[in-house]
Amino acid sequence: MLESIHAPTGDERGLILLRPRVFQLMMAFRQTGPVATEAGGVLIGSLRGPHIEVIDCTQPMQNDLRRSHAFDRRDAGHVAAIHAAMKGSAGTIGYVGEWHTHPEPVPSPSGQDSANWRNLVRQTKHSLAFVILGTDGLFMNSLDERGKGSAGWKLCFPESCNEVLRKNPTINLTP
Ligand SMILES: [Zn+2]
Repeated sequence: MLESIHAPTGDERGLILLRPRVFQLMMAFRQTGPVATEAGGVLIGSLRGPHIEVIDCTQPMQNDLRRSHAFDRRDAGHVAAIHAAMKGSAGTIGYVGEWHTHPEPVPSPSGQDSANWRNLVRQTKHSLAFVILGTDGLFMNSLDERGKGSAGWKLCFPESCNEVLRKNPTINLTP
């Protein structure tokens, strides 16, 4: 059984908690092959005080735009999944963020990613968590409703850690 993955929220008062199920759903879309395209979806869970608990996520759907270096969540099924979660939980579970993949070992957000994320927190008016899944690790961050957050946290997958450290002796890895 995998442990939950967690990282501090942007303001560092709380934690982003990623349940093992979410991690497992995402890992199926790691861009390990040469023709792989980016994948993504929404994060579903609860805002618990300063913490963001992610308990589920959607996966790429038919009408999403998927390219080797781009993902645009266009399918209405993602929002439908959020509404279903809200309805089934009397509003305690809902939209808490976004995830997508990058074709790089330990990913960093692009300028477009950061701009999209700031727009999303302004629209939702509450904190959101953001996850980018790379081939050897992941990036996590959260932004508050004003678009403020930390620089984010990078983690590498256990089986890739030695390789990542060898290639990036100065990389900032957070346990
Ligand atoms: Zn990106």
